[in-house]
Amino acid sequence: MVKSKKVADASLLYSLKKCPYCHNMLKLDANRCDGCKNRVGAINKAGFAQKLINWKAYTVSALAWGAFFVYIWWAFFKE
Ligand SMILES: [Zn+2]
Repeated sequence: MVKSKKVADASLLYSLKKCPYCHNMLKLDANRCDGCKNRVGAINKAGFAQKLINWKAYTVSALAWGAFFVYIWWAFFKE
């Protein structure tokens, strides 16, 4: 059994990276997908661009869900 060498840098393996949202092929230095316009990060070991976490959107979404559940509780369960 021959152990395969560890690849230090995935970018050496690939000349293109895949968009994690729509699987469009992108240049390695692209930071936005041409197809779906989502922001993407550096390539990972699987050849996909990394998703960038949008903390602002997460926070707004969490607050919206929180308000929704409070409303449901207030509308239906409050006595
Ligand atoms: Zn895309």
